[in-house]
Amino acid sequence: MNDHILRATFGDDSGRIFVADTKNTVNRAFEYHKTSPVMTAALGRTLTGAAIMGSMLKNDGDLMTVTIKGDGPARGLTVTADSHARVKGYAYEPYVDIPLKPNGKLDVAGALGHGTMTVIKDMGLKEPYIGQIPLVSGEIAEDLTYYFAKSEQIPSAVALGVLVDRDYTVKQSGGFIIQLMPSAPDEIADRLEEKLRTLKSVTSMLESGMNCEDILNETVGDMQPKITDIIPVEYYCGCSRERVEKALISTGRAEIENILEEDGEATLHCHFCNKDYHFDENDLRRILQ
Ligand SMILES: [Zn+2]
Repeated sequence: MNDHILRATFGDDSGRIFVADTKNTVNRAFEYHKTSPVMTAALGRTLTGAAIMGSMLKNDGDLMTVTIKGDGPARGLTVTADSHARVKGYAYEPYVDIPLKPNGKLDVAGALGHGTMTVIKDMGLKEPYIGQIPLVSGEIAEDLTYYFAKSEQIPSAVALGVLVDRDYTVKQSGGFIIQLMPSAPDEIADRLEEKLRTLKSVTSMLESGMNCEDILNETVGDMQPKITDIIPVEYYCGCSRERVEKALISTGRAEIENILEEDGEATLHCHFCNKDYHFDENDLRRILQ
């Protein structure tokens, strides 16, 4: 099945859950960036979380960006999502390779180090919404949980997982975000907490053949879940020569004249899909006119 997010309410609307399968999306990120396994995991977990958070945005043109900056060898990464759960992203150091953790898992926290996670939501208002937290674990899911509690005051449970295959492609990728409404009865919160304590990891659930609906039932199945939406997820860049040319024009006449004089040509690079856009002398002179 294609990548998607299953959205549901449960416990008589006292909570909502989003379950995502993002294998193809994260594999596309790997194809574009040729990331090392640990960076595929870091980027993939963030892409998955961002896809879900993007789908929470209300309006068509709304955008959100998650930026992680750390003092580890990976330095950080940037992911953006729109309200249709279309995502794109890149790691600042895509080839970082560090030893596995003692438990055999990819060491995402070790690659990112200590730092910050910043969430920017552009909802067409004068000022974007900006929330920033210190990284609490660097494993992404815990950090997003902390972000929701601290910046949005929403008690949440976040689980994200990427399983990288021997040939470095993405074998499994997905996750869920569960949020409780302020009105949620303690009984629901307690039951959920109990459930999450014994829940298997997302990747092991996906690897055992479970789909989003199975994971939904595994987590909140005894709390009358009602599926409300199924949202497709995809890796989408959207860059084009026209857009890049507009960006070049926005740097100003002096800058373009400067490029003409010094190099006689310009190559602009899209970080999100690793495409190069070349402008030769004739292009630059045409742009100047
Ligand atoms: Zn692009």
